[in-house]
Order: sequence, then C-alpha cells, then structure tokens
Amino acid sequence: MATYSHSKLSTFENCPLRYRYKYVDRIKVEPEAIGIEAYLGSRVHDALEWLYNHVKMSSTPEKEALLDYYAKDWEKKWGEGVKIVHKEYEEKDYRNVGATCLTDYYDHYSPFNDSTVVSLEQRILVKLSDGSFVQGYIDRLALKGAAEFEIHDYKTSGSLPAQEKLDSDRQLALYQLGVQKQWPDSKKVDLVWHYLRFNKELRSNRDARQLEQLEQKTIGAIRAVEAAEKENDFNPKKSELCQWCEYQNICPLWKHVLSVELLSVNEYKKDGGVKLVNELAQLSSEKKALDERLDRVKEALSDYARKNNLEVITGNDYQAKVSFLESIKLPAKSSPQTLEIRSILEKAGLWDDYCCLDAAKLARELGELPKPVQQKLSKYASTEESARVTLAKKRDE
Ligand code: SF4
Repeated sequence: MATYSHSKLSTFENCPLRYRYKYVDRIKVEPEAIGIEAYLGSRVHDALEWLYNHVKMSSTPEKEALLDYYAKDWEKKWGEGVKIVHKEYEEKDYRNVGATCLTDYYDHYSPFNDSTVVSLEQRILVKLSDGSFVQGYIDRLALKGAAEFEIHDYKTSGSLPAQEKLDSDRQLALYQLGVQKQWPDSKKVDLVWHYLRFNKELRSNRDARQLEQLEQKTIGAIRAVEAAEKENDFNPKKSELCQWCEYQNICPLWKHVLSVELLSVNEYKKDGGVKLVNELAQLSSEKKALDERLDRVKEALSDYARKNNLEVITGNDYQAKVSFLESIKLPAKSSPQTLEIRSILEKAGLWDDYCCLDAAKLARELGELPKPVQQKLSKYASTEESARVTLAKKRDE
C-alpha cells in the first residue's frame, strides 16, 4: 500500500496535474525551485527546532542567539532556486518578516516552560482502517501534566484562518490519530497552531466521532487519487497557486505563455501560436460585427413585412420568408412573483412537474393545465410576438 501525507493529498486536491508531475512522473526541477514564502517558513521552522532542542537540554538560548542562528541559516541555505513571485518585495523584506516572527514568539513564550518537549519534527505514521498509511511530521509534540498532549504547528503565512477552518483541518487531526495510537493512555490532545506573523495562537480539539469522520474522509481522498492514477486522469487546475508551481514551464496551461515572454519582438510576431490566436481574435471580432449587422437586417425585414402585410420578400437570387410567432411568457425564476406562482402550483398539486420553475416549459404547457390554474396564472402571463426570418434561394418559375 502506498503511503500518503496531508501535503500529498492536498497537492492532488489543488491540482491533479501537479500531483502527477511530482509524485507519479517524479519530475525533478533544477535548480530545486522553491517560493520565498516556503523558504521563509523552512528557516523559521529550523530556528524554532534549534531553540527547542536547547530548551530540551535545559540550556535555553538568549533571543539574540536565536536571531543570530536564523540569520546565518538563512544566508547559508539561500540559493538561486528561491523564487520571489511578488516583485515589489526583496529578499531582505522576507528575511525581516522571519526575524520579527521569531522575536515575537520568543517574547511571548519565554522561558518556554509551560509544557515538556516530547519530540521535534517527529515522523508520525498512521494506519487507516482500509489499510492505507498516512505519514506526517509534527513540528513539536509537547506534554502537559501526565497525559495531555499538544501538537504544535508553526505557520508563517500572511493570512489568519477562521476558527471554523481549523476545526475541520485535516493535517493536525491526522497527527492526533497517530499520537493516540502511539500513546493510548492520552487523556486529551490539543491541536495548536502558531500563526507567527500575527503572534497568535489558535487551538482546536477533535472527539472520537470527529476523528472517525476524518479517517473516512481521508480514505475517500486516497480513493480519488488512486482512481486518477488508474485512469491516468490528471487535469490541470488553474489557481493562485500556479504562481508558485515548480512545473509552470511544462504545464499545458502556462508553457506557451511563459515561453513567448522570453522571445524578442520579432520572434514573438513570428510564433505560430501567437499568429493563430491573433487571427482567431480578429475573425471572432469580425464575426461578432457581422452577426450584429445580420440581426439588424432581419429586424428591418420583419418591420418591412409587418408594415406591408407580407410574408415573402424577394431579392435578386434569394427570397426572405418572414413568419410571426406569438408566445406566452411567464416571469423569470428571479422575479418577485415567483413565490406566488409556486404557491398556485403547489395548491394544484403541480409543483413537482415544475419544481425548478422552468418558466419557458410552464408557459408552453399553460394551455394544457386545468382551467382554474390557467385562470390564476393568466395574470402573470404576457403575450410576446417574435419574428423568424429565413432565406431561401429563388426557384426558377
Ligand atoms: S501551473 Fe497550475 S495548473 Fe499547471 S501544474 Fe502547476 S498548479 Fe497545476
């Protein structure tokens, strides 16, 4: 059985094609591409791991030592693969964000003695009821008292999620399953998120029923991935996340867009794709203008026919046939009268037949409804005349 993780499943949910590139085709990107937001997150995680390793050994470092570790680590690991998407910011802006996160965290939690560190970056492997495995790494597992665990997770994202979102979060709840299987005597497990940019701690809990539901939902997510793998069905899903996708330059949604950006003006003009799209755009715009002209001529012809009481109007080689149709219209679904119409239909036991309030169908079949219903609905009905103009080649007489 394959082993999954929250991030692997999220990759599939966010974009099946990225999942294929990453986990099925295992395409390596050189140099290893990483968005600066992810780089910032990794450096802050490293610094907090370093801090708590010292806390564990009862040698809590000073804040300055923590910041010094962070700055040196940032410098040492920085590479050309780090990608800055928001060009209005520079590397130092992101580095400063991380330093502020760490400063606030240190001031908030120092001397870090409200719980005992059990482990840092601990791998958790959970066997689900269908036999599949889910793994993950807990940033920090802490113990309060004898049997109360806390699963801590550090976030450096620039947005603060609503409590509701955290109460249905999959990642830490899966870790809870693992912790409870490892320590069945645990009395309580708290899920704790540190949203470092906001110096904010958010918490959530899961009871046994919620964990059971989570397990079933996770099995469902795994089944969806397996079905896609079996059918080799991995469609691209365009979203904000494309900006940080390491496969943008091979993705069918972006490959051409990115490749022509690198061309000179002359090369750009000669590109086959660019030429075809420009031609299509030009033709579409001409077609739209022609369609509008055609509608105006048809309208003029129907006016001419009405005024002169004609049904056929002749030209050189073609004849136009104009027919006038009368149809009944009822108010559209969005109209305020909808509720009144619904009530009439419900009382007549006809609501099921028109439950989507298909005004066009109802208008078409109005004449077939029982007389009392017709009478009640008739005040909402109006008659509309439309003209149909068709063109046919003249036949030789
Ligand atoms: S660029 Fe966007 S659509 Fe393409 S693979 Fe990446 S995430 Fe998916």
